Amino acid sequence: MSDSSFENALSSFKASGAKITQQRKIILKYLVDSHTHPTAKKIYDDLKESQSEISLATVYNTLDALIKTKLVIDIEDKQTGQHHFDFFGSPHYHIICDNCGKIVDGHNLDFNELVQNARNESSFLIKGIHVEVHGLCPDCQALKKQDRI
Ligand code: ZN
Ligand code: MN
Repeated sequence: MSDSSFENALSSFKASGAKITQQRKIILKYLVDSHTHPTAKKIYDDLKESQSEISLATVYNTLDALIKTKLVIDIEDKQTGQHHFDFFGSPHYHIICDNCGKIVDGHNLDFNELVQNARNESSFLIKGIHVEVHGLCPDCQALKKQDRI
């Protein structure tokens, strides 16, 4: 993803009043660039190779701060209980495999219309959206055909 996405995200993060440290910037950059919905452990494992002083606690507290500002969302895999994290710079939805937990981004959805409809039906002040579609990914469909799942 482009550097402007990171700069915009960093501006929002600063504007939220969160404490900005070099490590927090590195974690945010990692998330902006990532499209694989990593777990906290995966973020930590990938970053510690170049950032030997980073701790898993720092990854968690940075994720908490980013989730509060809505820059990042937390996707819980209900099968495994694992949490995956996703930079949510532009609205999209998630297509999730119920067998292996793979998460694919979906973009062909009118979020403005969805928000408008939700507002009309509930009179809520809408603060966020998280849409999940569940199914079986192509790999798991192949395993199922072979009776391996
Ligand atoms: Zn799968
Ligand atoms: Mn995503």
